[in-house]
Parts: sequence; structure tokens; C-alpha cells
Amino acid sequence: MICSNCGTHNTEGSNYCNNCGAPLKHIKCERCGFHNKPSAKFCVNCGVPLSTIIRIVNNKN
Ligand SMILES: [Zn+2]
Ligand SMILES: [Zn+2]
Repeated sequence: MICSNCGTHNTEGSNYCNNCGAPLKHIKCERCGFHNKPSAKFCVNCGVPLSTIIRIVNNKN
């Protein structure tokens, strides 16, 4: 996992950069498949609220 903020190589599966603390996991839009920035609240490609998608995924488990 390479941090997009500082370029540090982090352990695979890390949620946050161990150098600068930036979130590493991109949020994949369930509707269109676009990979949004970890801090994004809405898909920049189709506009669907990403927080709602996360909630739906969590409810399935
Ligand atoms: Zn970093
Ligand atoms: Zn989308």
C-alpha cells in the first residue's frame, strides 16, 4: 500500500499511513465501480452517497 499523500510504503492491508496518518483505502462505488478518495462522501463519477453504501455493506454482514 503506497500512501498517495506522502509516498511511504505501508504494510498491505493497512488502513492508515504509518508515516503521515492519511487514510489508505479508497472507497469503491458499488454502483459504478469508481475508486474514490478515502475521504470522499459522494462518488465523483455518479454522485451516489458513499456513506450509505458502506452502511448497506455493513448490514449484510
Ligand atoms: Zn503517508
Ligand atoms: Zn459511482
